[in-house]
Amino acid sequence: MKKIGPSTLSVHGGEPHVRPSRSVTEPLVLASTYPFEHTAELHAFMQGEIERAEEYGRYGNPTVAAVESRLAALEAGGAAGFGAVLMASGMAAITSTLLAMLRAGQHVIFTADVYRKTRVFARTYLDKFGVAVDIVEPTLAAIEAAVRSETKIIFTEAPTNPYLRVVDLEGIVALAKPRRIKTIVDATFATPINMRPCDLGVDLVIHSTTKYLGGHNDLLGGAVVGRSGLIQAIREQVGTLGPVCDPHNAFLLGRGLKTLALRIERHNHSALALARTLDEHPKVAQVWYPLLPSHQDHALATRYLSGGGGVVSFEVRGGLEAGTRLVDAVQIPKIAPSLGGVESLIEQPALMSFYDQGPEGRAALGIREGLIRLSVGIEDLEDLRADLLAALDQM
Ligand code: PLP
Repeated sequence: MKKIGPSTLSVHGGEPHVRPSRSVTEPLVLASTYPFEHTAELHAFMQGEIERAEEYGRYGNPTVAAVESRLAALEAGGAAGFGAVLMASGMAAITSTLLAMLRAGQHVIFTADVYRKTRVFARTYLDKFGVAVDIVEPTLAAIEAAVRSETKIIFTEAPTNPYLRVVDLEGIVALAKPRRIKTIVDATFATPINMRPCDLGVDLVIHSTTKYLGGHNDLLGGAVVGRSGLIQAIREQVGTLGPVCDPHNAFLLGRGLKTLALRIERHNHSALALARTLDEHPKVAQVWYPLLPSHQDHALATRYLSGGGGVVSFEVRGGLEAGTRLVDAVQIPKIAPSLGGVESLIEQPALMSFYDQGPEGRAALGIREGLIRLSVGIEDLEDLRADLLAALDQM
């Protein structure tokens, strides 16, 4: 098969050359139900003699389906046999996938720096349903040590939040496959432009589409992508559990996806440049960016990532107060949770996602008080750099 580039797939992946509607864009179909021509058609459908993509809104929608096939094509690099399910949020994608694949008595391994609510779900819900959970350091040795005969899934994330760790994905796959353990990677921070875990043998890839895939800070969504057989099993569960993606939401995501490769190119370029600027600044104690040689996972990052992504984490000298002065002084990035949009966002993890932990809890989790997470948007690099440098001067 001729190799198709990621930008072409972001725009056209998985779609017919001319749509049934003949419109160049995918129409937004707002419908909760899809009538049958007559009872004979209904009968044939129930007998499995005819295929219809849609029956009732919880089981499918043409706008959602079109974006699903585009995302699957993009994640698989154009290879056939892959599918995707869009869901109402990244957390819906994570929880529905795990609930679809697990039953009581089984065991799951999570790496310790997966998204915090993923860990909350593991500890408070999976435990409750009789699924054993281990949350281990993101190293191959720690994962291997946790494997049991009942282990069904290894769930990891790359790069992680906020220290942008990258795990040995090939090592995890090599460990999992002979034991028939499924591997799931939350690749929200990487996107299919910077990393395609399925090429490394990972079974399922999860995205919070709220972030780069949507890209405009205007939607909440999630997706799971993988081989069609597994995806079909998850889709059936979603039809029962109900965390479906709203068609309007899918329309926005489909529109955002078209510029994904362009946006990621800019995020990668600006974030690396700002990481280097911060790294040289005397008021900055440490910078975490996967493509900086000083990052602890730099070797794995250069192996797996074609770009470092748009998030730069750094620690300012002077702790929480100094960090607050910086965050309050910048003019372009807005103080907000989330990442991956065209607008730059900045936050102090100690005052945002880890606020409730208190200083001791944060220390135990390795969250430093002077830590700042910057999600670099697509504004002009020199404007962002000047803004950051002026804020550091004032700090
Ligand atoms: N996974 C990662 C890596 C995230 O950063 C987030 C949210 O920040 C999620 C999952 C959850 O996604 P959502 O907020 O769309 O539910």
